[in-house]
Amino acid sequence: MSVIQKPDPVPAPSAAGRVPFLDLKAQQARIGAEMRRRVDTVMAHCQFVLGPEVAELEAELARRAGAAHCVSVSSGTDALLIAMMAEDIGPGDAVFLPAFTYTATAEVPLLLRATPVFVDIDPRTYQMDPADLERRIDAVRQGGKLRPRAIVGVDLFGQPADWDALVEIAKRHDLVTIDDCAQAFGAKLHGQPLGTQADCTAISFFPSKPLGGYGDGGALFTESAERAALYRSLRTHGEGKLRYDVQRIGINGRLDTLQAAVLLAKLSVFDEELVARERVAKFYDQRLGNLLTTPARVADSTAAWAVYAVVLPNSDVRAAVQEACKAEGVATAVYYPKPLHHQPAYAAHHEGGALPVAEDVATRIMALPIHPDLTEAQLDHVCNTVTRALAQAMTA
Ligand SMILES: *Cc1c(COP(=O)(O)O)cnc(C)c1O
Repeated sequence: MSVIQKPDPVPAPSAAGRVPFLDLKAQQARIGAEMRRRVDTVMAHCQFVLGPEVAELEAELARRAGAAHCVSVSSGTDALLIAMMAEDIGPGDAVFLPAFTYTATAEVPLLLRATPVFVDIDPRTYQMDPADLERRIDAVRQGGKLRPRAIVGVDLFGQPADWDALVEIAKRHDLVTIDDCAQAFGAKLHGQPLGTQADCTAISFFPSKPLGGYGDGGALFTESAERAALYRSLRTHGEGKLRYDVQRIGINGRLDTLQAAVLLAKLSVFDEELVARERVAKFYDQRLGNLLTTPARVADSTAAWAVYAVVLPNSDVRAAVQEACKAEGVATAVYYPKPLHHQPAYAAHHEGGALPVAEDVATRIMALPIHPDLTEAQLDHVCNTVTRALAQAMTA
């Protein structure tokens, strides 16, 4: 109890009036005790790098993904970097990836001096379009300048990419498959958790991802013992069997023990949280499905729902709805306002011309709050606000 009472001039908005995009405080109320117990254990043993929690987390993640090997790393971006370093991807190599994704997917091949080749997306699911992928692989082969090497499928917004098609195309063209699963750990395809569909799978523990830590972190899954050994070496400066035996160029890419402890606590509620996210998605589907374009479900899959994105008729309507949401305390966000081939950093590397679906969707897409602690009153408030704003914008 403080001696000086602070004045509170602004009345607190009602709970339903404030709908944050993410509510990590509410989550702490559910897992705080387990989190503190886990963190205290680390503080007691002081093995802050590669402590016992790291191995425990890797075993638990591998079990959940149904994967033979899990190697934890310092971020989702470093997971992609280590995956591509392990395949020796570099100058002259073409890495095929969707144009509609987070910047990290394209940044990593460029860090290795390889060339990202941007692929358009499916107009229904916004996942990489296998037909366009095939066309672009053929174009690169015919161009004769680059060697097709890898396909990076992205499980956009927490729904699986079309792995049946991507793996089939990769086999036919002898390409490595990398799953950028940063947004989708916990999702399933044909009843199988994501983690074994591609040659390697990269996930992220950035705080806003479905399984988020309290800082940066990531992990790699693979069925190959050779790849797993390479990942372990690469995350610790390319070390060999002995500590000061440097076998290859690596990075400092380990996951902190404290983050592993936090993630183990978070895993104790992860399954319930996935159910809660699905409940939010269904609520939006039902309330908004007749008014705007709600996310099309990828066939025979369950989503991790990192992002619930709707698509509006045009960019003016999007701006008006976002404005109205802001006024009502409803957080919205645009993932992604620009396809990557239009980003200044990547435009110079893009030779493939227009990617019409990605370009169009970027102008109209908008994400609504989705997290496990949203109440029915908050969801009601989001849907009422969007419905009203949309009606107004369409008659304006
Ligand atoms: C978040 C994200 C990444 C990068 O993960 P970090 O842990 O932030 O480095 C990569 N790809 C996609 C699609 C992402 O959403």
